[in-house]
Amino acid sequence: MTQPVAKPWINAIHAYTPGKAKSDDGRILIKLSANENPLGCSPDATAAMADARATLARYPDPASTALREALGKAYDLAADQIVCGTGSDELLNLIAAGYAGAGDEIIYVRYGFSVYDIAARKCAATVVVAPDKHYGTDVDALLALVTDKTRVVFVANPNNPTGTWTDDAEILRLHAGLPADCVLVLDQAYGEYLEEDGPAAFDLARKHANVLVTRTFSKIYGLAAERIGWAYGQPGLIETLNRIRAPFNVTSAGQAAAIAALSDSDFLAHSRKHNSEWRDWMATEIAALSNHGLKVIPSRANFLMVMFEGAVSAETVYKALMDEGYIVRWLPGQGLATGLRITIGSEEENRGLMAALRNILERHN
Ligand code: PMP
Repeated sequence: MTQPVAKPWINAIHAYTPGKAKSDDGRILIKLSANENPLGCSPDATAAMADARATLARYPDPASTALREALGKAYDLAADQIVCGTGSDELLNLIAAGYAGAGDEIIYVRYGFSVYDIAARKCAATVVVAPDKHYGTDVDALLALVTDKTRVVFVANPNNPTGTWTDDAEILRLHAGLPADCVLVLDQAYGEYLEEDGPAAFDLARKHANVLVTRTFSKIYGLAAERIGWAYGQPGLIETLNRIRAPFNVTSAGQAAAIAALSDSDFLAHSRKHNSEWRDWMATEIAALSNHGLKVIPSRANFLMVMFEGAVSAETVYKALMDEGYIVRWLPGQGLATGLRITIGSEEENRGLMAALRNILERHN
């Protein structure tokens, strides 16, 4: 019988694999697989969400006006140069769809965020993958791949899943080497974890008509369940995204929670401090296991990518950690079969994970 046939470029997409929370046999695990905030979210955000129940029958503000104004104040940006999205995932997809189609090229760095690949293929663009340098962005390698068909370059900074950071000077060099009709997307989902809040990205987007910065409330703000992201750029870029986004793309509760989260600077500071202290602690603990072949990639985000180059493989440790009650991220589908990405958790989770890891390595030696 005849059946609907999806377009070939759609059939070529590997669906996004989300971080798991359960073992294959259904046990609930301690989840260190999705880079969520182990401290939850601001109590002000929880309260704002509860209040939003009063208006469930009404559509949300389609333009997220109050949220954009609050973002403008918090980040010192013009509110009308911001667009909000259903997570930054929506915005990444819209950028690809707005600026690339069949015959165009979209570049991202190997070991980049997996949504770039889906976003590019979805609009029939050709995917061009740049080689990495020490698991991070190699500006020269990336620039060498630019052609007159390049329409979008995606760079996550800090990068997921590797945690690597490309410094401001390198980002400026990358931008300077791109043609003016190519959109440079600086994806800063983990931007708030930086001690210095990634100033070059916003400055670049303020000055140039081909730079978009994307951010999210899913990470340090702890509002992943509500799906709220945003992008900043010059009016031409923002207009394009507004033209094709879903009309009511951020829920009322989400907008209210995000506004409340922005005003709780104590929660933000506490989350940042918790993350940097425990990331340092975890990195030191893991470095002490170098005799087992473990190596940590230096991270500026809320997770660590750990490479297993000794006798015990990443896959073995991944499965054994699940037996011990912990789920981390193993990404063989992204060419990272020898690594595990571990989200920084609460103190108890971090200590528990390290104890489990040491036991596993000793047992398998
Ligand atoms: N960019 C990067 C680099 C990410 O790691 C993520 C989340 N995993 C996102 C974007 C998307 O986040 P969200 O859609 O929740 O805003």
